[in-house]
Amino acid sequence: MKTALFTPGPGNTSDDVRAALNCDIGTRTPQMTALTQHLRQQIAEVAECGEDFSVVPIQGSGTFAVEAMLTSLLPMQAPCLVLVNGPYGERMAEICQIYALPHYILRSDPLRPINAAEVADYLGSHPDIAALALIHFETGIGILNPLAALLALAQQRGIRVFVDSMSAFGLLPIEFTSPALSAVAASSNKVLHGAPGVGLVIARHDILAEPRPARTLSLNLQAQYCGFQRDGMWRFTPPVQVIAALSRAIGDYLREGGQTARLQRYQRRASRVIAGLAEFGIRPLVPESYGAPVIVTFVLPFAADVLSAGTLSERLLAYQLAIYPSQVSEVNSFRIGFIGELTENDVDRLVVAIGEVVSEIREQLEQPA
Ligand SMILES: *Cc1c(COP(=O)(O)O)cnc(C)c1O
Repeated sequence: MKTALFTPGPGNTSDDVRAALNCDIGTRTPQMTALTQHLRQQIAEVAECGEDFSVVPIQGSGTFAVEAMLTSLLPMQAPCLVLVNGPYGERMAEICQIYALPHYILRSDPLRPINAAEVADYLGSHPDIAALALIHFETGIGILNPLAALLALAQQRGIRVFVDSMSAFGLLPIEFTSPALSAVAASSNKVLHGAPGVGLVIARHDILAEPRPARTLSLNLQAQYCGFQRDGMWRFTPPVQVIAALSRAIGDYLREGGQTARLQRYQRRASRVIAGLAEFGIRPLVPESYGAPVIVTFVLPFAADVLSAGTLSERLLAYQLAIYPSQVSEVNSFRIGFIGELTENDVDRLVVAIGEVVSEIREQLEQPA
């Protein structure tokens, strides 16, 4: 039995995706150029982004794509407003700090979605802001931010929006028809069920083509875009096997019914786990309406010295189940991710295993010392 990964990516991959990794392709061959072009089209199909956008893959994990997007495409002179309600928002702010990109940070409660009215107020009192940078689904605690409302607000004010949609791309709708939407970052190893190693940025052609000085060499998205437009090649060594596997994974995703089918699968998993854990008195930290079936944070019914996310994850490994060992909230809690090639049996095994660990601890606590 293989370990079932209840983490927010990389998740379990299918046998076919792992078989697709088993290849050798010369990087500067017509085969690689054709594969890259096909992959870019497949991603555009998943995004339903239309002709105004171009898909620019970039080597590395998802953070590389976010860093490439912000350093290459944010307006040069006018500041951007980074909306932060969790660790991935903090990461965007850190990128702006490191590169000294002009920015403001608006932090809000990590237990709630970003409030568009508060953002509107902030923009009202800072007329110099030219862009918003935000996380679509905050994968830390598991909070879905109101992308459509924030795009509408940005459109009213004529500012650009840069979105990290790493854990929502392919699962939840993104309004590519909004004129405010400038670029979206995603990755190979979350909802698309590929292997880790390629980041994706889907950005407007006209923004990619705006002349500007480079801030980075390898993460320069404009140079990467020019390479693909010129001769279809990657500037630096591409992860060929990962690209072949991602193309296979997206083919399967589309054949299986795309976004609708994947969302239904994740929803079924999440409902089973939420209902199953409730039987043991384990409940989600935030209302279900704030989240999405990507990752859910559950409150542990004990003090952290009795059972923490770290010790729970160690116990679950004996059952061949992996969860993240870390806790992101101040509350003693753990997180369950629902992405990847998981079976209903895996989901049932998870509920049973957590139930056994928790029941055993309750029995120990009830025994007189
Ligand atoms: C997974 C994820 C990332 C990227 O993380 P990596 O470790 O670089 O793959 C970025 N933003 C969000 C919201 C994520 O969920």
